[in-house]
Amino acid sequence: MFKIGCHLSSAGGYLAMGQTARSIGANVFQFFTRNPRGGAAKPMDRNDVRDFIAYANREGIGPILAHAPYTLNAAGAEARVREFAETTMADDLKRLELTPGALYNFHPGCHMGQGTDKGVELIASMLVRILSRLDAPPSTTILLETMAGKGTEVGRTFEELRAIIDAVEPKLPFPYRLGVCLDTCHVWDGGYDVADGLDDVIAEFDSVVGLDRLKAVHLNDSMNVRGSHKDRHACIGKGKIGVDALVRVINHPRLRDLPFYLETPNDLDGYRAEIAFLASRRAPVR
Ligand code: FE
Ligand code: FE
Ligand code: ZN
Repeated sequence: MFKIGCHLSSAGGYLAMGQTARSIGANVFQFFTRNPRGGAAKPMDRNDVRDFIAYANREGIGPILAHAPYTLNAAGAEARVREFAETTMADDLKRLELTPGALYNFHPGCHMGQGTDKGVELIASMLVRILSRLDAPPSTTILLETMAGKGTEVGRTFEELRAIIDAVEPKLPFPYRLGVCLDTCHVWDGGYDVADGLDDVIAEFDSVVGLDRLKAVHLNDSMNVRGSHKDRHACIGKGKIGVDALVRVINHPRLRDLPFYLETPNDLDGYRAEIAFLASRRAPVR
């Protein structure tokens, strides 16, 4: 089944997001766990969560993808910044246990001049501390997002994501596997040719990270040329990646069963149109 959806506002709660998703032809969605630029999270409304879970089961919606706030920087130079990241992620993971089986995506972080190796070390040690404090592995799968390499972002290369994974998993008190969310705009801006060399990019991801860790795709076009390190999303077919390439992404035999989340600059009508278009270009299983 084609799992396709988009980023939605969480202002109305979980059930409202599920209903909105359905109303635009989506069967998955992404949302911010809290204000993307701030810190405070609304208290969880347990009735809303219960109603949403029943609705999602009935309508076949999910997996839901929770996105950590942009301000979360595990690799920050200041202790205060790193502490905010740690407190926030720990709290997000606790809340997400109310919606079992969710995905939780975060931007690995910006090293702020400390260097990539130091960034990797700070990100990994935060994940180890957060997870080690739990009694059991969370039901949520934590996803590292592939980044465009803007500024001092860590996670532009598949090797950097691998380094984080390798510095976390052996140190945990229980078996747990981190996942990855591949953002088509970000990897393109980071230099990977998902337009003309998709097979090679997927093969490289598989050899460095392992395709079994790929749990979600952020489906975005890019305003900028490959390797620009800009991270400006464009609507499907309105950017430099192009519609044909993005249609190849949703139909690629090794990607097609993943959930796809649009983060294109759209209102709900725009998302509805993009979802309908992509569904119309979805090839039958061979
Ligand atoms: Fe993101
Ligand atoms: Fe993204
Ligand atoms: Zn982005």
